[in-house]
Amino acid sequence: MTSDDQLAVQAEPDDEITFCRLVERVAACRLCPSMEGRRRVLGPGNGPLDALVLFVAEAPGRLGGDRTGVPLSRDRSGLNFERLLASSGLGRAEVFVTNAVLCNPRDAQGRNRPPRFDEQSRCLPHLRAQLDLIRAPIVATLGAVALRALDRIEPHGIILRQQVGRAVPWRGRLLFPLYHPSEQALLTRAFDRQQQDYRALGELVLSVRAAIS
Ligand code: SF4
Repeated sequence: MTSDDQLAVQAEPDDEITFCRLVERVAACRLCPSMEGRRRVLGPGNGPLDALVLFVAEAPGRLGGDRTGVPLSRDRSGLNFERLLASSGLGRAEVFVTNAVLCNPRDAQGRNRPPRFDEQSRCLPHLRAQLDLIRAPIVATLGAVALRALDRIEPHGIILRQQVGRAVPWRGRLLFPLYHPSEQALLTRAFDRQQQDYRALGELVLSVRAAIS
């Protein structure tokens, strides 16, 4: 076990934690010195706790979640996400959106940067707690960081480029891997291909709704 894995195990959440308690815990979290002064992006703005789909993205953006308090909102990635989400037939108010890392990572020039592995490790218990609380039957990952975070909670063996847009059983739910809606990821998987992925997600949601109604 690496020291980062040990970090993730040390901070196991309580079995009986409520969402409000988790929000308080995250707001008070100071595990990452690099996140000093950043907003902890978890609260009512993430979405309804009884959502059918729980999206897990990478980390809040400087001009997005860190500014608005709502993941994937207002910045370029957020605007792309809302357009893609519309392809699924789902509205923003129907889904819960969170990040593998709940604070905005920045480089020395103040620009967004990918979260480091140690930051991902420290935030993993918060992600595990959200998965325990928000029992959405579909968990959709947005990008490789989110997919890897879930693999550390319970291995799923998914390779994003091979299995994008296809549901895989995972922890009694369906795990649905998608690309991140960032401009950079659109260079790897173009917008129209991503729209097809979201349409497939919409069809999955319809079948899950029919199965549970
Ligand atoms: S990134 Fe996660 S673990 Fe690190 S300070 Fe923010 S909430 Fe805490």
